[in-house]
Amino acid sequence: MKTKLGLLYGGKSAEHKVSLQTALAVIRALDLEKFEIHPIYINVEGQWVKGPQLNAPVQNVQALEFSASTQVSPLALAPSLFQTEKQEKESLDVIFPLLHGPNGEDGTVQGLLELLNLPYVGNGVLASAAGMDKVIMKNIFAQAGLAQVNYVAFTKSEWEITKVEIYKKVEEELGYPCFVKPANLGSSVGISKCRNLSELEAAFAEAFQYDRKVIIEEGVTAREIEVGVLGNDHPECSVAGEIVPKKDFYDYKAKYEDGETALMIPADISEDEYREIKESAIRAFKALDCSGLVRADFFLTKDGKVLINEVNTMPGFTPFSMFPLLWKETGVEYPKLIERLVNLAIERHTEKQ
Ligand code: ATP
Ligand code: MG
Ligand code: MG
Ligand code: MG
Repeated sequence: MKTKLGLLYGGKSAEHKVSLQTALAVIRALDLEKFEIHPIYINVEGQWVKGPQLNAPVQNVQALEFSASTQVSPLALAPSLFQTEKQEKESLDVIFPLLHGPNGEDGTVQGLLELLNLPYVGNGVLASAAGMDKVIMKNIFAQAGLAQVNYVAFTKSEWEITKVEIYKKVEEELGYPCFVKPANLGSSVGISKCRNLSELEAAFAEAFQYDRKVIIEEGVTAREIEVGVLGNDHPECSVAGEIVPKKDFYDYKAKYEDGETALMIPADISEDEYREIKESAIRAFKALDCSGLVRADFFLTKDGKVLINEVNTMPGFTPFSMFPLLWKETGVEYPKLIERLVNLAIERHTEKQ
């Protein structure tokens, strides 16, 4: 019997386009002898549109952008969205949310799938929500004893009232350069590196376009090392990879447009450095109570300090993204990686029942 796999992609998020690319790649990699593919597209307005079952790989993302006829709430649609067309009321076996950023990677969709009692790939509600919010995530990492850069955080309403004091606090506690980020986002969207007060002012205004909360971090000069973690209660760590940006930092353009950033896999680091990164990645995975997968991002400073930057609970997942490349180097090819994730989803769901 084929596994009836629902692919959930697109999303009301700044990372909508990235998600479409991922969906295209996953569809192409899936073995149609093993899987029935049921696409469910979330457009930028947040409308959920079910496409027809795919019996052959599609050629481009346009073929996955189904148009919505009416605005219906996902909750009202939910039962029928996750059923096959053939047999009335037959649910899909497992859902793969290929969604990045808010409204997808943040626990909201995961909550809907929990309510529907459907197995789904990747992290649950808690880990997704905590991993999406960089402030909450860093607080949990601190509590777990993981080393990281200094940071402060403010809400938009605090900023509107006390801008001057806030800038002063950032200058005193963190200094320059510092990084201003929307608390809940990814793909470097809304992130600025600041070298002086006027850049700091502009960076706050920019970050608040995306979120009501921002985090400001001390800027470090360091190598950027990433590892993939895979599993549920007994997670495994991939080899390490290094990001070598040609620019100032690994911004949105460098990630998706320039194609200039080099990924070095495996990273040229010492055994001790790898061991520390691996242990920290697993500790971070457990501290957030993750399941399925995360990509853990680290800074490795010149004096050999390992600082965790973040985890991504649904990392970039095209065959050219870091997470799948790390697993390929570790011995798990892309189609096998997808199958492992699907199996982990079913395993977790079965254990819960
Ligand atoms: P993604 O989820 O796509 O990995 P993100 O939007 O969550 O990205 P970060 O990973 O936090 O953002 O930051 C993006 C990039 O900005 C980093 O890869 C790094 O190049 C740079 N950067 C972020 N924070 C710092 C910091 N504190 N010091 C130095 N560089 C930083
Ligand atoms: Mg991130
Ligand atoms: Mg991300
Ligand atoms: Mg990152």
